[in-house]
Amino acid sequence: MKVKATTARRMTRLLTLALTLAVLIGTAACVNSGGGSGGSSDGVTFGVLIYKYDDTYISTVRAAIEKYAAESPTAIALDMQDGQGDQAKQNDQLDVLIQKGVDVLVINAVDAGSAQGLADKAVEAGIPAVFFNREPAKSVIESCSGIFIGTTASEAGVMQGDLLADLWEKNPDYDRNEDGIVQFAVFKGEPGNPEAEARTSYAQSQAEARGLRLDNVNGEPLVANWMTDQAQSQMEAVLAAHDDIEAVFANNDDMALGVIAALNSIGFNTGPDSEQWIPVIGVDATDAGLEAINTGKMAATVKQDGDAMGKAIVAIATNAALKNEYLQGTEYKLAEDGVSVRIPYAPVQQ
Ligand code: CA
Repeated sequence: MKVKATTARRMTRLLTLALTLAVLIGTAACVNSGGGSGGSSDGVTFGVLIYKYDDTYISTVRAAIEKYAAESPTAIALDMQDGQGDQAKQNDQLDVLIQKGVDVLVINAVDAGSAQGLADKAVEAGIPAVFFNREPAKSVIESCSGIFIGTTASEAGVMQGDLLADLWEKNPDYDRNEDGIVQFAVFKGEPGNPEAEARTSYAQSQAEARGLRLDNVNGEPLVANWMTDQAQSQMEAVLAAHDDIEAVFANNDDMALGVIAALNSIGFNTGPDSEQWIPVIGVDATDAGLEAINTGKMAATVKQDGDAMGKAIVAIATNAALKNEYLQGTEYKLAEDGVSVRIPYAPVQQ
């Protein structure tokens, strides 16, 4: 018994020594591959959290990320996850990506207001965080030394207001009841979402700054959660109560298309020769939105450039993964807030 116990103790010691050596060798190997190579030999992995695949604009960003990652001189592997609009699900996906040891976290937060939790986990794991599209508070971005890539939230709304003012000046007959006031409705994506709030308020304030007098027939914005079907049913209700409506702003093209479907059902906006027509102005310039403009059903949209967004994400996240300065060697400049890069919008009309 005694001899056996001693042997077992010796074997345990040998095993411990072997394990210690293995750990030391493994650590050295990690330092060698991660520290000096700059990632040029074995590439980098992006862990990409998407708030919802089923979003038309975000789909264009995803496609652009895939395109520019494939073209990059640095080999990039993408591990992309669909949050399905569920923050709890996205939190779990973040944990898995961290466990896999991705080189950078590219985050399109489901709920930008809950992004502090995501940032904290990135800091704890020592992985850089690049946020895009859904904007966390500046303090959240700073807390993880991250960066945000987005648009200037007010810009799309300002352009919508300008588009309506231009149309109104060129087309006096748009004032259907000839009272000198624009009877209008505005469809909001979601309450509290910074893009939705800014588009909703700036579209109106810019139109007013350009000299239009506005009357919201509904009294307040209609919330349709960015979705075509919700906008359609709400627009049907608006038309039933306010047949004097003369213009519609929508925070995105998906909702604008719902508004147009409701208008079509009562003979409005059926095409270029439609006798009854009101300007509907969206945002995103999705394929379906552009089709509606080209077929004379929608007046205008504002292009949110998904391709340019994807290109910027790949360039900046590659630098983050390689531990370079975020904007090193790129065409991008930091915005005034010091933590973001802004991709410009552009107006698109008939
Ligand atoms: Ca009027």
